[in-house]
Amino acid sequence: MLSEKNTLRENLLAVEDRIETACRRAGRKRSEVTLVAVSKTKPVEMLREAYDLGVRVFGENKVQEIRGKYEMLPVDIQWHMIGHLQTNKVKYIVDKVRLIHSVDSLNLARVIEKEAEKQNRTVDILLEVNVAEEESKFGLKTSEVLPLVEKVMQLPHIRLRGLMTIAPFVENPEKNRAIFANLHDLYVDIKEKNIDNDTVSILSMGMTNDYEVAIEEGSTMVRIGTGIFGARNYSI
Ligand SMILES: *Cc1c(COP(=O)(O)O)cnc(C)c1O
Repeated sequence: MLSEKNTLRENLLAVEDRIETACRRAGRKRSEVTLVAVSKTKPVEMLREAYDLGVRVFGENKVQEIRGKYEMLPVDIQWHMIGHLQTNKVKYIVDKVRLIHSVDSLNLARVIEKEAEKQNRTVDILLEVNVAEEESKFGLKTSEVLPLVEKVMQLPHIRLRGLMTIAPFVENPEKNRAIFANLHDLYVDIKEKNIDNDTVSILSMGMTNDYEVAIEEGSTMVRIGTGIFGARNYSI
């Protein structure tokens, strides 16, 4: 699917093209879907190249890596924390990230609230849902989501923007369609409960292997790493 010879520019154009095609197929506008370029493990030079091609939204999964890259890259980048977040590291990124995708407990939400209050800011978050209930993954069970929504909505320095899921890795992305549809249903439930405000407007689902199906099922934010930057090497 992805030739190592492809340049970042070609990869990005191909991803853009496929997002647009998926939107058209689903009768949706391209502007309804935000592309998060997942740059974890990739060197700053590659992020700069993507930046020069117009990318402004980058996803990272490690606090340490966000802090380092944040210092080295332009200030108009929007950093998204997409990985598991430990409570003791919240204080390092609250002022650096535009959106935290991975809130999966009331305890973590409370720590973010406290730190946000201390820094006199409001933090946008998503609740991470482990729709498939995979043992190996973080995230809430679907049954835990609505009760947590109620509690998180009461935290004044947190703005709940929506939901996120990491679907299982599958060869055939069609296998994840029901998972995306499930999360979309849950998202609509939450939106309907909050008709007096429209802050809940983000449904973060879809990665390199399954983002077109996710878009067809209502995703408003796709997180794409390999499809843009190529395969990751964790050994270096
Ligand atoms: C790594 C990662 C991605 C991107 O995965 P690809 O398959 O490389 O597109 C998306 N979301 C999360 C939470 C990730 O950790």
